[in-house]
Amino acid sequence: MSGSGRNARPVVEGLFDFDADGVRLLMSGCAACGADFFPRAPVCPYCAGSDVADVTSAGTGATLWAWTAVNAAPPGYGGSVPYGFGVVELPGGVRIVTRITVADPAALSLGMPMRLTVDPVGIDDDGTEVVAWAFAPAGGVEGRA
Ligand SMILES: [Zn+2]
Repeated sequence: MSGSGRNARPVVEGLFDFDADGVRLLMSGCAACGADFFPRAPVCPYCAGSDVADVTSAGTGATLWAWTAVNAAPPGYGGSVPYGFGVVELPGGVRIVTRITVADPAALSLGMPMRLTVDPVGIDDDGTEVVAWAFAPAGGVEGRA
């Protein structure tokens, strides 16, 4: 896992957590319709049911659904550019908008297996590394020139 030093903290609380065992997306699951969704919310976005429970996903079995490269830093962003950005699909169909650890679009392909990780996006004033969740090619980047 890259950029996951002991002193790292999430860029935003409540979206993901991580420790020595790995990274988990903090999701909700709806008892009424069975859908999982991200980020967490008190009401299901699919059926408006309010019987939702906290669930987590380790991102296992994710595949790449869409991707691009971000070449200009968004306002307030202190990390490096370019960086990869896109959508991955979890088993069951939940799609996650995410950083992608590979910035070169040509190195990625539709349906590529992806794994959840964290990626550094800046450093706090006190020197703490700030990380965001990200997806990386599960088998590394292959077929790269
Ligand atoms: Zn629902």
